[in-house]
Amino acid sequence: MFMASVPPDFKAGFVAVAGRPNVGKSTLINALLGQKVAAVSPKPQTTRKRQLGILTLPERGQIIFIDTPGIHQPQHELGRALNREAQEALDDADVILFLVDGSQLPHPEDELVARNIREGGGRKPVVLAMNKVDLVAEEDRPAREALYRRLFPEAEFLAISALTGENLDTLVDLLLDRLPQSPPYYDEDQITDLYEREIAADLIREAALHCLHDEVPHAIAVRIDEYKERGEEGAYIAATLFVERESQKAIVIGKGGSMIKKIGTLARQSIEAMTGRKVYLDLRVKVHKNWRNDPAMLMRFGFPAKWFQERRKRRKRR
Ligand code: GDP
Ligand code: MG
Repeated sequence: MFMASVPPDFKAGFVAVAGRPNVGKSTLINALLGQKVAAVSPKPQTTRKRQLGILTLPERGQIIFIDTPGIHQPQHELGRALNREAQEALDDADVILFLVDGSQLPHPEDELVARNIREGGGRKPVVLAMNKVDLVAEEDRPAREALYRRLFPEAEFLAISALTGENLDTLVDLLLDRLPQSPPYYDEDQITDLYEREIAADLIREAALHCLHDEVPHAIAVRIDEYKERGEEGAYIAATLFVERESQKAIVIGKGGSMIKKIGTLARQSIEAMTGRKVYLDLRVKVHKNWRNDPAMLMRFGFPAKWFQERRKRRKRR
């Protein structure tokens, strides 16, 4: 039904959002989609696996955003998996959105991202968006722009703010212009079914990072064990938080279970805000030594598996 009403000049495709950690990739996707989809946190590397945000503009197009993990110098297996994923996102994209943080001077890691785009993205259209311009004084903007333009002179350049919404409409227009004509890949109903579980896992992880501050840095992974719809009553979600050591488990549980309760409440509230219905959330904590260096574990957390399926489907269509 959705497909039947698509005009012939409808655009659809994949946009890889590339940029070093903390430039605002997740914030931008959330702003464009108008709801909480990608995990946002002031700490680098919050986005642990590829996430898709899908923006459908009736009559005009469908943009599927790939929120790539930041490319950085890998220190362990997880770092390498993240880099591989970032590279694959570039290979698969129709358009690359290169995001930089305009509130700071260009960083050596921006150069690294630019190089990766040149190597991985080939001759794909690139839009270079200088984010956080709300933090740049009006008189400093032209000089800052000139510095960033140099990173990728052949890209279309735009200054934006994911936070205030400045120029986001123009950004969407620029991206749509560069996508191929195609019917949409997803209809609206499918979107929730496919992604809610994963989004829930991200929101739980985000809640844990928020509550724990720096006590258990990035040693947490979340697995959704059960996600059941209970009609009027909302949804029942059971999830396990994996940590690497007994001492971390004790911290995550807290005195008399106070910390895990706090994490659960916060996570439940954000999942309810995302899904618009009541959620019953059941969390437990388990130790899995060194999960960050265990490829089987990384696969289980959806590292590349889901994306491979997606790509296969896509290739078949073409
Ligand atoms: P990512 O690592 O690239 O996904 O970055 P995040 O989306 O997690 O954002 C990192 C930090 O930058 C968060 O604290 C955001 O609130 C902040 N941020 C993102 N976009 C903007 C913006 O346009 N303006 C300002 N002032 N802050 C922003
Ligand atoms: Mg992110």
